[in-house]
Amino acid sequence: MTDFKEFADVCKHIEHISSSLEITDVVSDMLKSVSAEELPVVTHFVMGDVFPAWSVEQLGVGTSLLYGALSRSSGLSLKDIEDLVRSTGDIGETAVAALGKKKKNQSTFSAFMGEEPSISIMDVFGRFLDISRSSGSGSQSNKMRNLQFLFNSSSSEEARYLARLAIEDLRIGVGEGIVRDAISRAFDVPAGEIERGFMVTNDLGLVAVAAKEGGIEEISKLRVELDRPIKMMLAQVTPSIETAIKDLGKLAVEWKFDGARVQIHKNGDSVNIFSRKLENVTLSLPDIVEAVKLHVKADSAILEGEAVAVDEYGAPRAFQDILKRFRRKYDVEAMVRKFPLTLYLFEILYLNGDVLMDQSFLKRKEQLVSCVENCDSIKVHKHVLTDVEDEVNKIYTDALDGGHEGVMLKNPEAPYSPGKRGKNWLKMKSVMETLDLVVIGAEWGYGKRANLIGSYALACLDPEAGTFLPIGKVATGFSDEQLAELTETFSELIVGESGREIELKPDVVFEIKFEEIQKSTNYGSGYALRFPRLVSVRGDKSPEEAETIDRIESIYLSQRG
Ligand code: ATP
Repeated sequence: MTDFKEFADVCKHIEHISSSLEITDVVSDMLKSVSAEELPVVTHFVMGDVFPAWSVEQLGVGTSLLYGALSRSSGLSLKDIEDLVRSTGDIGETAVAALGKKKKNQSTFSAFMGEEPSISIMDVFGRFLDISRSSGSGSQSNKMRNLQFLFNSSSSEEARYLARLAIEDLRIGVGEGIVRDAISRAFDVPAGEIERGFMVTNDLGLVAVAAKEGGIEEISKLRVELDRPIKMMLAQVTPSIETAIKDLGKLAVEWKFDGARVQIHKNGDSVNIFSRKLENVTLSLPDIVEAVKLHVKADSAILEGEAVAVDEYGAPRAFQDILKRFRRKYDVEAMVRKFPLTLYLFEILYLNGDVLMDQSFLKRKEQLVSCVENCDSIKVHKHVLTDVEDEVNKIYTDALDGGHEGVMLKNPEAPYSPGKRGKNWLKMKSVMETLDLVVIGAEWGYGKRANLIGSYALACLDPEAGTFLPIGKVATGFSDEQLAELTETFSELIVGESGREIELKPDVVFEIKFEEIQKSTNYGSGYALRFPRLVSVRGDKSPEEAETIDRIESIYLSQRG
């Protein structure tokens, strides 16, 4: 059994290294040193996750619960804890400071025995699992008890990382890229194989175990499994139809529907639906579950499509309306009636036991058409195969006339590449390009708006390090109602405060319109936005899907011709 202290020591060490290569080595050594049981847990912990994204287990500890647990464990008042968050600017440092000041009457068994408290990695995981599984009326106090137990059983140094893990924001700069390379190095398997395993399982913990147990051979056995989502294939913007034809030759042209992407796993009579964040959203979409059961003629299948909110005539409604349906836990039936959906299916990845991802788009589409009965709630649209610019233009105009977003131009021969944004799927939309950026901080408003968060700090992603690079602030484009709603959401994500400025756990993605990207020394990314304005809150996107620094750079360069 490895002590959590060893994990905490590694985290502390990593915090003092800046070279990603060196960090990879340290992570690799840790992965090598732990047992097979601990390995998946440590693999997720080191990225600041407790469970894989797709798991039904979700921790759901907000900052208020965490402050409460720290207050009880340290004997300090809640106000003292909040002051510490303000002065240290970090929840981990708050835990160190608070527990370092622990009042004498907060005795623990280990204190009584005169021993240093200690807890193993698996004990920590077990407590988190119990927190995730608490439901019903006593759930808050059960979560609180578990957190208190963790803080009482750890030294203040360990508490730094326990507190950050509890809100799944470890802040040591270890992302998927580093962990992939660390697994590769630890168990001597090429990084490309690790990547492939990750794309089909969505779980680096599983991949690490396979690599440890059987190297490349075990990794190659990792397969798509029903009810475990696959990373979704993404599209690149094409500047023009002409370029798309030049790039791909014949194009399979489909309408680009404006809704939320879903991946549907049908296994006999059971249907599971995953969002593009790979969260299980089945309970909020009972109408889609029913429609799939009735109209998808397959024993088992993995399908993808766009869930679009529609009006009484079946025409698409605003994108924000579909998000009102997602992840909804209460009033689900009322919302089904208020915001009916049409599911436009465009992919099939698995059918009756066979994985179809390596087949061509055309073959997959044929099978998709053959197993779906078109009706009001589910449709498969026909694609058109062409290399004639005018023909594509006509489809594009028809799509816009029908209230859709534009067209997708697909390589008819291409396989499905999980998690890839490449040339095999190109997209063309009428609206100007926007940026999806992560909110990493904010500022309280002034005067009448002093209780509202009024301005938001935005960041793009450095995918290798898994860190966020500041790129500017946005304070326009919000309605009063939206500001109130967002203030509520963000108050559970506050991880540091100083004066009016707040530091937030990177969790929410904003879609931002802008006039221009400029070079700037004011922000860590090296870029700034001219006239940023909020378009929408991308509730369907995770921070890892935000724009990368490379893309910001390429937009900047393309602006300059
Ligand atoms: P956007 O905001 O343009 O949707 P994005 O970053 O959310 O961009 P992209 O991967 O760039 O996603 O664009 C592809 C998205 O378009 C898919 O994720 C899917 O949700 C949607 N889409 C709509 N119609 C189709 C279609 N026919 N085929 C594939 N994807 C489609």
